[in-house]
Amino acid sequence: MEVGWCLLRSLVVNAGSSSLKFALFAADSCELLARGNVEWMGDSDQAQLRLSGQSLADVKRSVLARSHAEGVTVARQALVEHSFLQAGPASQIAVVGHRVVHGGTLFQSSVRVDERVRTAIAELATLAPLHNPPALAAIEAIESAFPGVTQVAVFDTAYFSNLPPSAVVYPLPYEWFSEWGIRRFGFHGISHAYCAQRAAELLHRDLSELRLVICHLGNGCSVSAICHGQPIATTMGFTPLDGLMMGSRPGSIDPGILLDVQRQHGLSIEQLDHALNHESGLLGVSGVSSDFRAVEAAARQGNERAQLALSIYADRVRSAIGAAAVTLGGVDAIVFTAGVGQNSASLRTAAVKGLDCLGLQLDGVRNETSDPDCDLALTESPGRILLIETREELMIAREARQWVAQHWAFLGGNKCSHIHQVLSLDSSPRSHT
Ligand code: AMP
Repeated sequence: MEVGWCLLRSLVVNAGSSSLKFALFAADSCELLARGNVEWMGDSDQAQLRLSGQSLADVKRSVLARSHAEGVTVARQALVEHSFLQAGPASQIAVVGHRVVHGGTLFQSSVRVDERVRTAIAELATLAPLHNPPALAAIEAIESAFPGVTQVAVFDTAYFSNLPPSAVVYPLPYEWFSEWGIRRFGFHGISHAYCAQRAAELLHRDLSELRLVICHLGNGCSVSAICHGQPIATTMGFTPLDGLMMGSRPGSIDPGILLDVQRQHGLSIEQLDHALNHESGLLGVSGVSSDFRAVEAAARQGNERAQLALSIYADRVRSAIGAAAVTLGGVDAIVFTAGVGQNSASLRTAAVKGLDCLGLQLDGVRNETSDPDCDLALTESPGRILLIETREELMIAREARQWVAQHWAFLGGNKCSHIHQVLSLDSSPRSHT
């Protein structure tokens, strides 16, 4: 069955530990047609499906999904039910782009998923145990749902693959780096890359002129320093545990603590892993939740541990902004993005407190009343303070389209049969750099 060129879609899948986000774009223009997620609560087989799209009132319902593979099936059925996709042909999908958190040193750019890529993603799961396995499950589920469709993996680590050596190498025995590969990778690269581009657009400046500090503050948090379009520092490291305080991860801590709790309190590696990934951060300090909104609500009601957690969180963001600004030798703009950065005016106020010394002057009214994307700085502020809605799915759709265009020049075609034929060619160049 032939599908007209204008009906071709790009599907983006972002599989996390407890959710599967998806978005459907027009393949040629990357216009967003529909987006949604399947979100699990705890260990239940029940999940919440959300779907919104052009000419569609938001859909929200409980669904049965025992795995990420079943989540993909649920997402596909919902897209078909609401006529964003046809029930039949895989050929209506030009490309599927996946967010893959850890690409190690092997993947410095987006790649077509093949057997070798799958194996590498699986091997890297030890470094991103919450993220790489769900991505792999989603890739396999897409292959079953749309046999033969081209899948492109877009890596969170790729954006940071050219960090300078002084940012990459930890001050540990050098052989840990040279022989064991212990190094800074950096994460959230898709979001940092998008925000850097978007900041340049908002400022009507060329990215190559700008010194930017991007604060991605969500469940996971990271700050990066972008100098003239190139990331030169970032707070996340060898794993997504490093850097800022997060929902349930501590960020940077004295490594001596890890030695001490093993020696003095007998914690096993598994217990340490669990404590660092699931019991620390906002949750650990507040005892309330890993969810920023819940901690903010508890703090407002006078919960002192919640107040302490928020203070530590803001202090660490402020320090990271300062460090990034100094690394850049000055800052033209900082960006707040992701769930906390976009939504918590009080966190933004606390995070830039005292940063007038860097030329960053927040407009209190704009901060309380503005929606992304916009500038929150006082008019006279030398540096800008931007509020940007991160759009990782759009970035992945663009990357996937660009990858296909570069490798097969399919965007010049206007019939799906042609495109599908081209997409199915197996002699395609592979990029594993
Ligand atoms: P993300 O990982 O980008 O989805 O961000 C998730 C985090 O954003 C959670 O900690 C949420 O509590 C937080 N968040 C979402 N909406 C708000 C809001 N309106 N105010 C404060 N925090 C929020």
